[in-house]
Amino acid sequence: MKNLILKLEKENRLCKEEWMCLIEGRTPELAAFLFERARETRYAHYGKDVYIRGLIEFTNYCRNDCYYCGIRKSNTCLSRYRLTEEDILSCCSNGYELGFRTFVLQGGEDGWFTRERMTALIRRIHAEFPDCAITLSIGEREKDEYQEYFDAGANRFLLRHETANEAHYRHLHPVELSLQHRKECLWDLRHIGYQVGSGIMVGSPGQTAEHLVEDLLFLQELQPHMVGIGPFIPHKDTPFKDEKAGTLELTLFLLGLVRLMLPKVLMPATTALSTIHPDGRKMGILEGANVVMPNLSPQENRKLYSLYDNKRCMGDEAAEGLALLRAEMEEIGYTIVSARGDALLDTEQEG
Ligand code: SF4
Repeated sequence: MKNLILKLEKENRLCKEEWMCLIEGRTPELAAFLFERARETRYAHYGKDVYIRGLIEFTNYCRNDCYYCGIRKSNTCLSRYRLTEEDILSCCSNGYELGFRTFVLQGGEDGWFTRERMTALIRRIHAEFPDCAITLSIGEREKDEYQEYFDAGANRFLLRHETANEAHYRHLHPVELSLQHRKECLWDLRHIGYQVGSGIMVGSPGQTAEHLVEDLLFLQELQPHMVGIGPFIPHKDTPFKDEKAGTLELTLFLLGLVRLMLPKVLMPATTALSTIHPDGRKMGILEGANVVMPNLSPQENRKLYSLYDNKRCMGDEAAEGLALLRAEMEEIGYTIVSARGDALLDTEQEG
């Protein structure tokens, strides 16, 4: 099986049967070999640098009802909030002082933030922080709307596909949402020129090894610049409240595989990873990730952006805890850098 890892490292792709063989046949020994190759690949492109992104969760209103999500519209147990433009700008200033050069505006699909309001907000952030990258994570929109935000100064967009299998997508989402539209959004974003991020939850209800293979094949085709992979964690006020969480073991294995498939990818050690294991973030970085996304949102709002239970948002997950995070990364021989950390593009990825 090691020969498949070496083939993946060399050719950056595998066929369906080969992916299946690796996932189903994985052992601790194979994982150790994979992680060693993934680390080498990461060093070749990014050395031991870890990029930081300041996460601003600016609204927890959402018009959608994804079954796994704690801020879904049917969750009536949650207090809702929206940050004002001034609040958001003040998060950016605070982040800039701390050394952040990427701001990630993340929110539910909230109709209050109309196209006009979003465009004005992006323009203002771009004007006040011209040396910073602006990443949006605001869900599915029309292509011309994505284009307008790009023209206003947004550079990157995160939109996890969650699962590339139709039936599994249906299992996770209500009928108004479609996998086909989600994929179209991702292709639109690529064509406009955004650095695009996609990804999945590992261990989401109903997920099988075949589904993960379809996810890898989709990512192989999309060639995203960023990939977010974290374990599924149930939220107590959702239909999936009694489901089991995804495992650290399989999440790390997938991080390693994606590092070899997309050598230059920017990949966060997600908050979900550090929520299921106290050393989850360090392990993520050691097995192929190269980004961390501390929380820059106002402290009083952080608990309300509860995508899943017990989400970590303080201490080393918080922007003001950057010193802790820096020390944690130094412990394992890595260095937090303030650079924007754009994707290293190659011809295939620029398409
Ligand atoms: S996953 Fe995203 S789109 Fe779905 S309910 Fe949650 S915030 Fe809304």
